[in-house]
Formats: sequence, C-alpha cells, structure tokens
Amino acid sequence: MTQAKIVERAGDTILVISSHAADFVWRAGGAIALYSTRGARVRVLCLSYGERGESERLWKNPGITLEEVKATRQKEAESAAEALGAEIRFFDAGDYPLIRTSELLDQLVDEFRQIQPTVILTHSFSDPYNGDHTETNRLALDARVYAQAAGYPSQSRKLDAPPVFLFEPHQTEMCDFKPQVLLDITSVFELKRRAMECMQAQEHLWRYYTDVASRRGTQAVRNSGRREIKYAEAYQRVYPQVTDQLS
Ligand SMILES: [Zn+2]
Repeated sequence: MTQAKIVERAGDTILVISSHAADFVWRAGGAIALYSTRGARVRVLCLSYGERGESERLWKNPGITLEEVKATRQKEAESAAEALGAEIRFFDAGDYPLIRTSELLDQLVDEFRQIQPTVILTHSFSDPYNGDHTETNRLALDARVYAQAAGYPSQSRKLDAPPVFLFEPHQTEMCDFKPQVLLDITSVFELKRRAMECMQAQEHLWRYYTDVASRRGTQAVRNSGRREIKYAEAYQRVYPQVTDQLS
C-alpha cells in the first residue's frame, strides 16, 4: 500500500459515477470536497435514488410510496452535493436491479464527452452484496472507453484518457478492493461529515464512515510519515499511472 495524492492539475474536472443517492457521499465525499474547495468542477452522476435497496429507514414509515422515497432521497443527495460543492444529475434508472440500457449508456457517453473529466471516480469491480454497484462500475468504464472512440455517435469531441479511481466499497475485503491510493482528506473532513449528516435515511452509517476515514488516516501516516494526516479515503487505480518519476 502506498500513500499518494490523486495528481492535482490546473482546471481539473472530476466526474463521479454513483449507483445510488448516498454512495458518493460515504465513499468519495472527501475527494469531492477536496477538489471543489480547490476550485475544480465536480459533477456527480447519480444513476438511481437507491429507493428499494438503500432506503431502509424510510420504508419504516407506514404508507410511504415509492415516489415519496425517491423524492426524499433526491433532496438528501442534493443537500449533500451542495455541502461538498458538487453539481449533481439524477438519471432515475431504478435500483434492485439497476438495468443497463443502451439509452443510459448513450447518456453517460454524452456526459463524458461534454464534461471532459480529468479524473473519474466510481464503484469497485466486484461487490457481492450489491449488483447495482458492479453494474455501475461496468457502465462507467464502458462509457469512458466508448467516449474515446472516434466512431461513436456524439456531437462532442472524443475523450482523452482520464485516470479512473475506484472508491472503497462497504465490505472492502469481500470486494477484492486494493487500497492503492490513500487520499488525505483531513482538511475537508468536516465538510464530508456535514454531507453524511444530510443522509437522514442512513444515519447508522455516519459513525461507520467516520471510523473508516480515521482508520485510513492512520494507515496514511504509517505509509508516509506525515503525522498531520487524521482522515483519508482509499482508492484503487484501474489503469497504469503514467509518470516521469517514481514516488
Ligand atoms: Zn449503493
């Protein structure tokens, strides 16, 4: 495991592809806040509201409808995105299952080409607890590749080769996730915590993800000697890092 920063460049644009309304908050809220406070554009693509699979607490309200659950989750995610300084777009593609359609893929390719991200964040390759997360990983990686293809029909210019970072899944070891990058989020952790607290339907996860950030922070100190780090987020690279110096 190495400690490193996601390389910062002028004019960065971060695209975050999230299965459900809260995934981007727990798993990448620190990276989002870090980049937005540096002046980068950060855009979250939220494929579904997680209305069936990740809204347990709301379903305890007798008589609540699917549309009400979706509306509540949308409001929570909008507040969280605002707290983190990000734009957010909802696709309402449904969950359990999140179904891959050519229309959804086209919309994602279009986003990639219009936004021209310099960094892409999304779910891990594997998640035996949630097939929507795995599907989102495949959708995001395929959309990136198609957006690079000159022959794919689109009005916008084709994409270069932005790096993809996978964010940490809920049950790390079960998802074959390797924490290859530990991103120091100490300076923005309060913003991440505020965003987490917008997700009222999943209050039980606030403490859990505070603990995860603290544990990764301790590991970041161990891997770098930078004792000032208190909180970190873990990421796994998809493609080789291209560099002219080994660090
Ligand atoms: Zn999810």
